[in-house]
Amino acid sequence: MHRVGLGHDTHRLGPGTALLVGGVAIPHDRAAVGHSDADVLLHAVTDALLGAAGLGDIGEMFPDTDPGNRGRDSAGMLRAAADRLTAAGWRIGNLDCVIFAERPKILPHRPAIRRRVAEILGLDEAAVWLKAKTGEGVGPIGEQQAIAAECVALIERSASGT
Ligand code: MG
Repeated sequence: MHRVGLGHDTHRLGPGTALLVGGVAIPHDRAAVGHSDADVLLHAVTDALLGAAGLGDIGEMFPDTDPGNRGRDSAGMLRAAADRLTAAGWRIGNLDCVIFAERPKILPHRPAIRRRVAEILGLDEAAVWLKAKTGEGVGPIGEQQAIAAECVALIERSASGT
């Protein structure tokens, strides 16, 4: 049995020195603003997985009204979501993700990002793909006011599932 889930996230950009994407800090003159560490890709992946399993969403697991979530490591949030799937008898098939950012160029960092996301989830790198799109110079993405990410996740019943 297979299920799919879709995750989407957007973060505002502000002054900074690095952009955190998929657990990789890319040197840049802007950073994503958020309650947690604002890793837009890991948030989209987290929601895709939770959505596929019908096990909630990132806002419910880690409310931004909880001071304990301030600056929270998104890799830990993603792991917690993945643990929820494992406990419910699911395993991850693959992830396909898109980053929407005018700058910096994301593709040179694709190998590192794929490696890091796979590492967080204990997956083969081949199960994680990433594409990058600009905003064509228009709108909040194109004017570098925001960064966004989308992810589609396929999950399947694990043999040891309950
Ligand atoms: Mg977010």
